[in-house]
Amino acid sequence: MSVGTAFAGMRRVVEVMFKAACPDCRAGFELTPGALRLAIGASSRTTFYSFTCPACGSAVRKPAGERIVELLTGGGVRTLRLHSTL
Ligand SMILES: [Zn+2]
Repeated sequence: MSVGTAFAGMRRVVEVMFKAACPDCRAGFELTPGALRLAIGASSRTTFYSFTCPACGSAVRKPAGERIVELLTGGGVRTLRLHSTL
């Protein structure tokens, strides 16, 4: 039995919202996990999250620290690993 299946029946389906702000138009808004993308690089310098501003359409990219990575992955945000750990 794998670790993955042990938690399969315990998943909550409540939608999480993330508060974000646009550096271009300074609009504040809430985003669903599906609107965010997280990219994890080899170091914190290459780890960032990105989204498209719903107000001005600007593509926003911000550095993601350890806490943010935890928050986003825990909230079901799609994660892209830029380096291979295999
Ligand atoms: Zn904007």
